[in-house]
Order: sequence, then structure tokens, then C-alpha cells
Amino acid sequence: MSSTGNDWQRFLAHKAAEQRQAGRWRCRLVRGTNDALIDFASNDYLGLANDPRVIAAQHQGARLHGAGSGASHLVTGHSQAHHELEEALAQHTGRQRALLFSTGYMANLGVLQALCDTDTQLFQDRLNHASLLDGAKLAGARSRRYHHADGEDLRRLLARADASQRRLIVSDGVFSMDGDVAPLDDLTSIAAQHQAWLMIDDAHGLGVLGNDGDGCVGRHYASDQVQVLVGTLGKALGTAGAFVAGDTALIEHLIQFARPYIYTTALPPGVASASLASLHICVSEPERRHHLQALIARFRHEAASIGLPLMGSSSPIQPLLLGEESRVMHWSRQLGELGFRVGAIRPPTVARGQARLRITLSARHDFNDVHRLLEALQRCQQEEQGQQQGQGQQED
Ligand code: PMP
Repeated sequence: MSSTGNDWQRFLAHKAAEQRQAGRWRCRLVRGTNDALIDFASNDYLGLANDPRVIAAQHQGARLHGAGSGASHLVTGHSQAHHELEEALAQHTGRQRALLFSTGYMANLGVLQALCDTDTQLFQDRLNHASLLDGAKLAGARSRRYHHADGEDLRRLLARADASQRRLIVSDGVFSMDGDVAPLDDLTSIAAQHQAWLMIDDAHGLGVLGNDGDGCVGRHYASDQVQVLVGTLGKALGTAGAFVAGDTALIEHLIQFARPYIYTTALPPGVASASLASLHICVSEPERRHHLQALIARFRHEAASIGLPLMGSSSPIQPLLLGEESRVMHWSRQLGELGFRVGAIRPPTVARGQARLRITLSARHDFNDVHRLLEALQRCQQEEQGQQQGQGQQED
């Protein structure tokens, strides 16, 4: 092998060893069609990913427009299915226009790259999603990161910023790993006071919160309060892709300048048709949201009564803060053996010492599913307490 080939082998081996030693080796699970585990890890909050009406719409969209879109939106990939979905999403969120992106990750990269440059003053919540931080890097803009959900800290940073430059404040709507909602009243008034634009990534709020599932921003905050609204389709709507909603001038700007929009193949049209069907269901079946809220309340009540380490979230994301990475891995394995799939979230996704189980509730669960999960969590807790007592006795 050439010496360059050896360099690459050494590089890969070194990075792999580093990752394993840090206890951060990431593994994927193959989910079978007859998987017996009850899933408390997905973002399918309304239970629409397997809805027969959504699947039928996907088939129909593919039959009409093809399995793939064939090209980017600006070439020939923008089908009638994409167009109708954009119009429905604009209306749903109370915006003039919406623009589809292939993923939420790309939507965030696209917005930040198209709006920011080295001279933009960019303010981001410390716990913002990785795609928002990466978007700033793509734009060459420096992110000033304020303490999580802390309007005072944001004010302090804004007061120090160069007033002659354009300012953009960026926040998740519902924080993906904590489940709490951004302080939107505060953020909108701070943005207005400092002539900044506000961008909210409502990936986890859309479909779940607001009127008819219009999210934590939706029609509650107008486009002169939240100028840039991002929503994803792969979570509550159960399909894939994402959109940016806002005034016409913003959307036209993105079409001209957002490279992750311009230089990629449009979503498969069947996915657009499926998303439109799921948006209709989201609006017309509010009982899904009511059931989900009842599950959240039940879970929190019972989890608190057995002393599980809940965080302050009222959304379907209900993390249990366990702290140590090894503890989270142990609980998640044990839950798997007891029949439940629950996400184990470790650094660097969350801060060191803040590893957690990310339990997500869905309208497809029933009260018995939640009750059985709580029993399994209690078993993890009791086994741990038993071990600690055993160790204590040995040390005595
Ligand atoms: N924003 C947030 C807050 C997210 O949690 C995610 C996905 N985890 C994304 C954006 C990216 O969305 P997508 O999966 O569609 O790329």
C-alpha cells in the first residue's frame, strides 16, 4: 500500500479508537417490520408515519409524478404535488409563502448561508440544533451563543453588538433534547427592540402545538415578529423533508441564494403528496393532539410519583436526566430487554454529565403502553437501588 494509503488507514484507526475510548461509539439498530419493541424513541408524535391514508397518498403521488422528482426544483423537479404542499404549509402557518427543502438540516443550512455572512451579528441559543450551528459555519458567520432560554443574557449580548450590522436571533421552538419551548414572547419583544430578525426552527412543535397543530409560532406570531419559520415534515407529520415559511421577499431570496435549496434533487413527489395528506389529518383530527396531551400528563404524573428524574418539559419529548453515560446505556439496554425502544442521548449531543434517556410519546401509544413503560423504568430504578445497597453492605 502507498504511504498515503497508510496515512488514511492510520487516521481512520486513530479516530475510531478515540471515539471508542470516549465511550461514544455510535451504533445503528435495524428496525424490522415485525419488530416487537414498543417504540418510545421516534419523532412520529401524531402516529402518522404508518397511517394508511398517508401511505396511499404517497403511492398516488408516485403514480402521478414518478418515484423520484428527477431534478432540482429550479430545473424540472418542482411538481404540482410540491407546489400544492407549499401553498398548504404557507396557509397553515399564516405566512405569505413556504419553500420546501429536502431535509430540515438542509433548510437550516440554506437559510443561514443565504442570510448571513462574516458581517452578520448572529445570536443563537446554547442548545440550538446542530444544523443551526453548522449553518452559521457554512455562512462564515460567528454565532454568539446565549444561555439557554435566557432573554437577559441575549439582551446583554445584543447591547454589546455592533448596531450598524444586520442582526439575526435564532432559536429552536421546542428544544429537541430537552423538550422545553423557547420563551417566544420574550424573544419576539427583544428582537423588535433591537431591530433584529427572529428565526425559529419549530421542527418539534409543528403538528403538536398551537391551533390545529400550527406549532409554537404558527399563526400566533406574525411574520413581522418571527420573520423566518422553519418546520420539518419528518416528525409529527410522519413523512420527510422540511420547509421555510415567511414573506415573499424572504422566500424569493432563498430561491436565488440558498445553495442547499438550489443544488439538490427535489423531494420525491410522493413524499410531498403524503405530507399534504398528513397535514390534512393533522388539522382535521385534533383528537390526536388531545390524546397525546393526556399521555404526556399521565406519564409525568406517574414518573414523578415514583421519583424518576423528569425535566421541565410539557411536550412529547420527556427526557429522564440520568447524568452518566454508562448509566444511560445500561438503562436503555435493560429497557430493550423489557420490550421498549428508548433513545440514549450522550455527549457531544448533550453536555458532559447530562446524558439522558430521550423518551418520546406519540398519539399511537395507549395508556397501557405508557403504564408498562413506567413499570419497566421502575424496574431499572429498583435494580440500581438494589445494587447500591449491596455495595453499601459490602463496604460496611
Ligand atoms: N431542527 C431540529 C430542532 C431537529 O431536531 C432536527 C432533527 N433532529 C432538524 C432540525 C433536522 O431535521 P431533518 O431530520 O428533517 O433533517
